[in-house]
Amino acid sequence: MNIKIAYRHEGEFEEFFKKQQGKVVAVMYDVNTKPYAEEMKLQLAKTAKSVLSIEFPDEELVPTQEKCAEAQEIAKPADYLLAVGSGTLNDMAKSISTRLGIPCGVLATAASMDGYCSKGSALMRNGVKVTDEVHTPEDMLIDLEIVRKAPRLMTAAGFGDIIGKFTCLTDWKMANVVKGEPIHEKAYAMMEEARTACMDAFEGLTNYEGEAVAKLMYALVAAGLSMAECGNSRPASGSEHHISHYLEMDFVRRGERVPLHGIKVAIGTLISIELYHYLKDNNVQFNGSEKVYALVDELPKVEEIRDMLVKMGCPVRFSEIGVRKEVMEGAIEKAYTVRDRYTVLTLVNELGLTEKVKPILMEKYY
Ligand SMILES: [Zn+2]
Repeated sequence: MNIKIAYRHEGEFEEFFKKQQGKVVAVMYDVNTKPYAEEMKLQLAKTAKSVLSIEFPDEELVPTQEKCAEAQEIAKPADYLLAVGSGTLNDMAKSISTRLGIPCGVLATAASMDGYCSKGSALMRNGVKVTDEVHTPEDMLIDLEIVRKAPRLMTAAGFGDIIGKFTCLTDWKMANVVKGEPIHEKAYAMMEEARTACMDAFEGLTNYEGEAVAKLMYALVAAGLSMAECGNSRPASGSEHHISHYLEMDFVRRGERVPLHGIKVAIGTLISIELYHYLKDNNVQFNGSEKVYALVDELPKVEEIRDMLVKMGCPVRFSEIGVRKEVMEGAIEKAYTVRDRYTVLTLVNELGLTEKVKPILMEKYY
């Protein structure tokens, strides 16, 4: 994977515009990102052969096959497709450009999730969410002035996605102790370092200071890079993501708007940390439990994480984001089945403790 990551303050994306010399470039955006797209189009017009516009009038764009087909038709003559947006527009651009066999890039407009550089594209097909394997963007353009001004809930969601790296990395180490699953040291270290840098910048992040937002953005990018290094999503996705995926399926099934990924991950993280502490506080014995409890000692306290999320304006109960009660109960029981990956959810299930922890989790997080 070779993704060029460029920050605006390092020379106005000079190299990027130079690269588009003589090319037909399609720029894709929605009403929210239109002002930034217009500016990019003006710049592109100076070097590119021509600039095509793919403008969605939507405020809450849903990546359906019809929308993708519509955009693909306009982008057909293009040599390059630039998305101006975050999760949805970037996913659509990755998918459309893969189909057309042209490179794509993204001007990131929010630090909202860690999928910018991933090889996955989440789309809706016949009312069902599918994740297609696609190519990664060739360029990721970051203008911190834009990212800082994103809706606050989006930044909170990005922070939630990074908070989730506490439990996903602990799940990985736990699976190493209990099941002997190997650890990819480099990928692990990359993710851990980026998470730590982001946590250290927390105070600045609550004020949306440029440097702090840059740390968050970098951590989100690092998640993609460490997954690529590892060859799978283990460094960035554990029990907290499985809870999020389980809940998401219900929203999709009922045709309802899905709450932001990072928000679900954030609350999932609280649940996973709670479970780790529950096992340790009750001194539950299992293969490798002593070593696992040494890992639990390194985890933050659940109250500490919850306070940070509240300060970021992130919901901390699933009832706040429209999850149905029985669906959350279902997640506690079955979220471990959504992926074939050993996590604290699998461990709690194997130990036969699901029914014991359920009322505790429901009281605190629903
Ligand atoms: Zn995530």
